Amino acid sequence: MNATGMRNRIDAIDDRIADLLNERLAVAERLGREKRRTRFPVRDLAREAEGLSRIHPTPARAHPLMTVARAITASSVQQQLRETGTRTHPVAVIPVGKQVKIGNGLTFMAGPCSVESRPALLRAARAAKAAGASVLRGGCFKPRTSPYDFQGLGENGLSILKDCGEALSMPVLTEVLDPRDVACVSRHADILQIGSRNMQNVPLLREAAQTGKPILLKRGMAATLDEFAHAAEYLRTEGNGKVILCERGIRTFGTETRFTLDVAAIPILRAWTGLPVVIDPSHAAGYREWVLPLAMAAVAAGADGLLIEVHHQPDRSASDARQTIGPRTFARLTRTGLTIRRSMSRFEGSC
Ligand code: PEP
Ligand code: MN
Repeated sequence: MNATGMRNRIDAIDDRIADLLNERLAVAERLGREKRRTRFPVRDLAREAEGLSRIHPTPARAHPLMTVARAITASSVQQQLRETGTRTHPVAVIPVGKQVKIGNGLTFMAGPCSVESRPALLRAARAAKAAGASVLRGGCFKPRTSPYDFQGLGENGLSILKDCGEALSMPVLTEVLDPRDVACVSRHADILQIGSRNMQNVPLLREAAQTGKPILLKRGMAATLDEFAHAAEYLRTEGNGKVILCERGIRTFGTETRFTLDVAAIPILRAWTGLPVVIDPSHAAGYREWVLPLAMAAVAAGADGLLIEVHHQPDRSASDARQTIGPRTFARLTRTGLTIRRSMSRFEGSC
């Protein structure tokens, strides 16, 4: 067969592929509608992986067929997102302690960047609770940029945090940095936080998941949403479905804020994963004056919760002072946040 003959054959094959792709797209469109009706998440990463392995059984990532198969899956996901990407997509509800249900309404989690002392934490926690926070945050093992900066109080901090949470009937959230600390941190904390710098630390993800505790997983500062969703999948494949995703800003070329808050992550991740999405505007902003507006944007985009750094004397915070807000600003933030949230019910089912 000459070149023209082979080209004609390829054209005929392409026509068949196009017919099949159109058929696939039509089914994907119907599937999107059905998923929304039955409250199904758009993506199922285990199924996607299984589908790819059927097309090409050996894990040859660069194989051209894999590239095509991935592109087909991606376009199917896009198609379904068009159908399901509403602000009010239903998500799993993660119970924390007896009273808190993350994914059901707007949850405020607040407290200082780091636990500094018992009296300081109690003051911040009381103010945060009075303003509507239901979860108390406080870092004990701090992932600081410089080894010369305050590294946190470690185990002593954990005891302070636990006592304070019990005294105020607030579940507590703290970061675990090292797989060797998971057992100890999980004895003290109600929610384990895996920080931005550790989003793809697989041994840490596995160890933390095995505790069975709710995990707040922060997005890596340079991670795509797909990488973020796959990191969360490590927790779920360990049998822990109590996953809360947290967008906290990503690295861009901007220098006016510490990071850039990716608001689009909220509806996309909620629709993709069916997991609640919490926003941390404090680390995204880096400056306290921008925390409130970013928090409000997050609520308007459908965030399930806000994680805010609050201190009774923000300028005296041992870490992240510049982005920490005081109790009065926090009270304004919760009030306005709830107002925005209530007005959002008008968007129900739209988009
Ligand atoms: C924090 O919440 O204290 C923290 C260090 O956040 P991140 O991992 O997002 O930088
Ligand atoms: Mn901080």
